[in-house]
Amino acid sequence: MTSIDTALGRLSTLLGSGGVLSGADVRARMSGWGSQKPCEAGAILRPRSTEEVSAILRICSELGQPVVPAGGTTGLVEGHIAHGDELLLSLELMNRIEEIDPANRFAVVEAGVPLQALQEAAGRHSLLYPLDLGARGTATIGGNISTNAGGNRVIRFGMTRDMVLGLEAVTADGSVISAMNRMIKNNAGYDLKQLFIGTEGTLGIVTRAVLRLREAPQSQVTGFVAVPSYRNVLTLLRRIDRGLGGMLSAFEVMWKSFYDLVTTEPAKNRPPIPADHPFYVLIEAMGGDQEADQARFEAVLGEALEDGLIADAVIAKSDAERAALWAMRDDVAQVARFWPIFTFDVSLPISLMEGYVAEVEAGLKAAWPNERHVIFGHLGDGNVHIVVGVGEAGAAPRERVERLVYDPLEARGGSVSAEHGIGLEKRAWLGHSRSEAELALMRTLKAAMDPKGILNPGKVLGPAGRPH
Ligand code: ZN
Repeated sequence: MTSIDTALGRLSTLLGSGGVLSGADVRARMSGWGSQKPCEAGAILRPRSTEEVSAILRICSELGQPVVPAGGTTGLVEGHIAHGDELLLSLELMNRIEEIDPANRFAVVEAGVPLQALQEAAGRHSLLYPLDLGARGTATIGGNISTNAGGNRVIRFGMTRDMVLGLEAVTADGSVISAMNRMIKNNAGYDLKQLFIGTEGTLGIVTRAVLRLREAPQSQVTGFVAVPSYRNVLTLLRRIDRGLGGMLSAFEVMWKSFYDLVTTEPAKNRPPIPADHPFYVLIEAMGGDQEADQARFEAVLGEALEDGLIADAVIAKSDAERAALWAMRDDVAQVARFWPIFTFDVSLPISLMEGYVAEVEAGLKAAWPNERHVIFGHLGDGNVHIVVGVGEAGAAPRERVERLVYDPLEARGGSVSAEHGIGLEKRAWLGHSRSEAELALMRTLKAAMDPKGILNPGKVLGPAGRPH
């Protein structure tokens, strides 16, 4: 028997019926969100408790059996991809919301709870779990934590890291690290939960969490504006943030290329503003008084219009109009029109973004005169997504496009991953954004916590010495 068969024999006894999926049940699943490739994992393990996760990892550690943890598998950097000699450990059966505590404003959840389920449960107590992203219905809290997910409201509430008060995780040898802190402040020694946030399951598997909740907003105002120059976008961000006095919760920028793509057939969105401006911004405010907040929002935009800071503006007058504005921003699937595509998730200090984008665009155009690309995203956080199609797929064009996107980023001190993580897809470029000393400490931590290398092998750090 191979080691995976030995492991599966013991794991089947441990997990019982429904706890292990194999063969056709594995192949029936896709390897990831939007993927056409079936899951290749040797088997899928479905533990029901932290104790079972611990027992799984004790067995796998003993046998040197690699394990790939998985949440909703909506990640975009192949962080959850499992090969035939690996076991996929899905937290899907651990999907209980254990507690919502309105007085102390936290929730206790198991890792497999879908993000949207927690948002709705918090809403029933007039509370807000602020993390929000397009995959909300499928992405899970455990996946959000292990990737430190960002999304649309980071400018106001921070990334997942800022919402995790405590967590419970299982390390490679099966040890349970229970760090279920419920306080906002706790400086008692090392903050060990950070080892498991954003480390993509390479140092441990998150099984439960305590998450901070906020008061649900009583007002929501959403506007959409056209901006004549990048300089004006930067001025507008400060003007709006100051003018709204802390209510700004989203500042999503679309370069014209993206706006054109999502407002032309076969896309269903109608352009709310003529498409002849270089930049568009979706602006949202969350506050405490609908009428007063809407008036304030209109006044701030009105002044920006008078000053020539913006060229045109609309404000949603109903939930349907708000949804229509967000539908444009969320209609990223339109990029399939220039398939095959390469996707990027970069960040920079925002004042450097215009020069960076110009350099990337010039490089792409010189290499492929017929290339297509769009740029959009969370500019308020210094984060944009770039999607590029050059009419060909494969390793060679991919590396060439990556170099054209990442070299100008490295020169400006940017990050090759603002919010999607590294996974397998971006690991060759990690050295563009992290120093040798940082990489060495990451490897030291990995070796200390997972000496046999069984947890999500090859993700983030990859095999040592791979060129970039
Ligand atoms: Zn994003």
